[in-house]
Amino acid sequence: MWYCNTAPETQAKISKSIIHPFSVRGYEGLTINPYQGCQHRCGYCYATYEWSPEFYDKVYAKINSPDILEKELKSWKREYIDPVMISSATDAYQPAELKYGLTRKCIQVLQKYGVPYCVFTKSIIIERDLDLHSSYSDNCCIAWSITTCNEKVRRVIEPGTPPADRIFDVIKKFVDRGVRCVVNINPVVPLVTDSPEEIDTIVEKSQRANVQYAFAAVMRLRQDIWERIKTVLEILGVPDGVELYSQIFGFVEPISANYVPADRKYSKQVLEMIEQKMSNAGIAFEFPEMPSRQITRQLGDGVMKQTCLTDY
Ligand code: SF4
Repeated sequence: MWYCNTAPETQAKISKSIIHPFSVRGYEGLTINPYQGCQHRCGYCYATYEWSPEFYDKVYAKINSPDILEKELKSWKREYIDPVMISSATDAYQPAELKYGLTRKCIQVLQKYGVPYCVFTKSIIIERDLDLHSSYSDNCCIAWSITTCNEKVRRVIEPGTPPADRIFDVIKKFVDRGVRCVVNINPVVPLVTDSPEEIDTIVEKSQRANVQYAFAAVMRLRQDIWERIKTVLEILGVPDGVELYSQIFGFVEPISANYVPADRKYSKQVLEMIEQKMSNAGIAFEFPEMPSRQITRQLGDGVMKQTCLTDY
C-alpha cells in the first residue's frame, strides 16, 4: 500500500546477479540495486511494477550482493566498464541500509575495481559514507533527487523522505569535500511542484549549498502512478486537477499501462524555466561527465594501472 504510516517489513534474500544493464529515455547504462522495495513511499515512483506489489511494504535486502558484485567484476569480460547507477529501482540509502550496510559494502567493491559510479538518493543516511565517497571523488557523483521544498507537499507526495532542508545540509557537506553533486529535480509533478516559486526555492538552496550541477525531468504517467497521483491531487485540493492532467498528458481514462509522457509544449516550458533559473544561479544544467574506465584488475600482489577511456 502506498500511503501508510508504518515502516515496511525487511527480509534478507539471496540474489543470483547484481550488475544489470538498464535503459531509460534513450540512455543506456549499468545499475546495481542492493535492495528491492523502498521505504520512501514516493507516489510518483516508477519502480512499482505489478510484479512487485509489496514494493512499499516489504524491503528485501540482497545480502549476498557485495559478494556477487566482487565475483562479477573479477570475471568482467571487457577491459572497460561504464559508470554504474546506484540505484535504478530503489533508494540504496533507505533506512534498511543502516541495518544491512549492503550499499556501503558494494561501493567498497566498486572502488576496489576502479568502477565509476553515480549514487541517486534522497536520503540523509548517505552522510555516514561521506569519507568513503570523498576519497573517490574523481570517479563518482551523487545525484540528489529533490522534488519539493514545500513540507506540506512533501508529506503527501513522498511521505517517507526527509525534508529538503535536511538533504541540502548533507549536500553541502559533500560539496565541501569535493564530491560532484547534482540536484536532480525529478520528477517535476505537474500542478504540484512545477510553480516558478517552488523552483526558485530549490535553485536558491542549491546555490547556497554550492551545488555545481542540476537536472530535471517531468513525471511520466502509468496506470498505477495515475491512481496515486489522483489521491495526491485530491489531498492537496488542486482545483480541476484530474481534468487538467488529462489535458497535460492527453489521455482519456482508463489510462495506458505503458508510460504516458506529458505534452511536449508543457515539458519544454517547464524544463526551459528550470534550466534558465539554474543557469542564472551559475549552476550547469547537466550531469558531470562520467567516462568509462578500465577495470582495475588484481594481479597477484600488484595492481594494474587504471586508465580513463577518454585518455586515448
Ligand atoms: S526513493 Fe526512488 S525508489 Fe524509493 S519510492 Fe521514491 S522514487 Fe521510488
